[in-house]
Amino acid sequence: MADFKQNLRAYADLIVRVGVNLQPGQDLMITNIINRGVSLQTAPLVRAIAAAAYEAGSRKVDVIWSDPELRLLNFTKASPDAAVDYPDWMADALQRHVENGGALVTIHADDPGLLSQVDSDLVSAAQQSALKKTHHARQYTQSNKVNWLVIGASSPDWARRVFPDLPEEEAVDRLWETIFKVCRVDRQDPVAAWQNHIEDLKSRTDYLNHKHYTALKFSGPGTDLTVGLPDGHIWRSGRGQTQSGIPFIPNLPTEELFTAPHRAKVEGVVTATKPLSYGGSLIEDFTIRFEGGKVVSVSARKGENVLQKLVDTDEGSSRLGEVALVPYSSPISQTGIMFFNTLYDENAACHLALGSAYPFNLANGEAMSSEELLAAGCNRSVVHVDFMVGSNQIDVDGVCADGTHEAVMRLGEWAFDL
Ligand code: ZN
Ligand code: ZN
Repeated sequence: MADFKQNLRAYADLIVRVGVNLQPGQDLMITNIINRGVSLQTAPLVRAIAAAAYEAGSRKVDVIWSDPELRLLNFTKASPDAAVDYPDWMADALQRHVENGGALVTIHADDPGLLSQVDSDLVSAAQQSALKKTHHARQYTQSNKVNWLVIGASSPDWARRVFPDLPEEEAVDRLWETIFKVCRVDRQDPVAAWQNHIEDLKSRTDYLNHKHYTALKFSGPGTDLTVGLPDGHIWRSGRGQTQSGIPFIPNLPTEELFTAPHRAKVEGVVTATKPLSYGGSLIEDFTIRFEGGKVVSVSARKGENVLQKLVDTDEGSSRLGEVALVPYSSPISQTGIMFFNTLYDENAACHLALGSAYPFNLANGEAMSSEELLAAGCNRSVVHVDFMVGSNQIDVDGVCADGTHEAVMRLGEWAFDL
């Protein structure tokens, strides 16, 4: 227990000082936008983060709470119109917070299957209402106008799903231990461990940025996909920087190198290597086919209608907005655990995202209008949903301007030396 408290405090410190890198005088909001607040089950961590934030000189810490049982009750008992409508006051609070330059910490702790028994039309309508009403505020994080961070916290709801064979209390402890391990909280000096790790990722992004590949080619079981890359695409890794120059690490943990695909130049078929948890439902064993950058067909053993609805959300949700490389030997992959949560699972495998691309993955992208971004090949959408395509059987080639291919990954591991 003493160990746990120490680790929790170290985790909170890492979150405040390295992750979101809260500045003296800055406001902090802790929430989870889509879930209409952060789960009550994370209270011990939220309190530790607030304490660390005030210690770092924060002016004010605001928390928007959510109770998973009440979320479920809302879907089953409220009238459908009211159930799906995102509260205006919540969208307004978020908007005012980011407009004032406040930092945002999002915590994932909910049961990924919480809403699996609810009508998927309702769930997806609620999701769209949330995305639309918070679209403007989320531009502040998507464009790095403010520093922001996404993290996970163990909870009975989530731990039960990850370790179904363990008694609840043990499952919660195991999930905390795993989070501390993959977030390097258990290291002698977690801050130094993160600095080294972030440097290593940066050298690899420098290598890829120097190459200016025109496309990446993924091949493996059920996958033969060419992902075109726009002129001026920029590879990035875990380190973010606000437009005003504050460095931060938007995801803890992070293992990926990622860039923007060309929205009109994706061809072929890709098979997911892990289930996708989306809006409280699980989509399993699925394949997506692309032509001219657009999804032309999807098939899934489970959750095909949820996947189709995601693809049909808007014009951009049927196109790719991210391509990311993660070696199979990453610490998260090595745990062998399926987290049913994108923050962790995406750092275990190479992945793609349906929906919006990050403007900072394109040269000068943050200064471009939506129309200019689209014209440059950078996708726009209200959604950004990652799905895993990596494994120890996937090869990735970089396609050079002259059409020749170079090995980027072989059997899921880096194939180039620095
Ligand atoms: Zn990613
Ligand atoms: Zn992503």
